[in-house]
Amino acid sequence: MAIVAPHVRKHLSADALFRLVHSSFASLPDHRLDDPEITLTDALMSAFAMFSLKASSLLAFAKERAEGNVHTIYGIERVPCDTHMREILEPVSPKWLRPVFTSVFRQLQRGKALEAMMFLDGHYLLALDGTGYFSSKTMHCDSCLHKVHRNGSITYYHQMLGTAIVHPDVRAVIPLMPEPIMKHDGTEKNDCERNAAKRFIATLRQDHPHLQCIVTADTLSSNAPIVRPSTPTVCTLSWGAKKAIMPLCFSTCKQRSMPGR
Ligand SMILES: [Zn+2]
Repeated sequence: MAIVAPHVRKHLSADALFRLVHSSFASLPDHRLDDPEITLTDALMSAFAMFSLKASSLLAFAKERAEGNVHTIYGIERVPCDTHMREILEPVSPKWLRPVFTSVFRQLQRGKALEAMMFLDGHYLLALDGTGYFSSKTMHCDSCLHKVHRNGSITYYHQMLGTAIVHPDVRAVIPLMPEPIMKHDGTEKNDCERNAAKRFIATLRQDHPHLQCIVTADTLSSNAPIVRPSTPTVCTLSWGAKKAIMPLCFSTCKQRSMPGR
């Protein structure tokens, strides 16, 4: 019996998606005025490679960089060392990276890769959750959140709201642009996960106005200020509810997603 090769969607292969990420990075302006030895594209692509390879630390990635073939796979001319990578990338605003996420997402849409992720009546499950990625009692920047302890000491930290389209039967997830939880220009007040979720939903509507989602989040999100920005649109919400009330959540979502609701 003849073996039928699986249909390969070339524009959704790792090579094609890496090239897309590379070209999106290449369109970002370099903040440095002099003629740098290592381009911003190489630094961004190196950081991307580090996460893509699931390197456990910058040091582990440095080893991979020396021994592996990250140059060929990710199209990097020169990989910066860890200190240099931090220096180049620190001034890069997270919002510059939004077009990279949307371009990959559109490629997945065009390639019909999203269809397998559809969860309920044309809706996708969108998971939101906050996570911390930096904490220090000594090092801090203008964007750091801070917590003053009873003994007067201060902890500085950074968090972000991670977001991804998920499906219980599909191993892969499709990450969307995370929303940073950080102090914004001209404010001394700490930002919070709830505000980040509101900003994220507003931006999601701009970037993907026709994407119908059921947002799953923890109980922090089950409040009116978060629900309201989403209700006039196609986005509906459920959250970390107890198992017994989940059917009610889904039937409510279903009703609210009907035309005119
Ligand atoms: Zn900071």
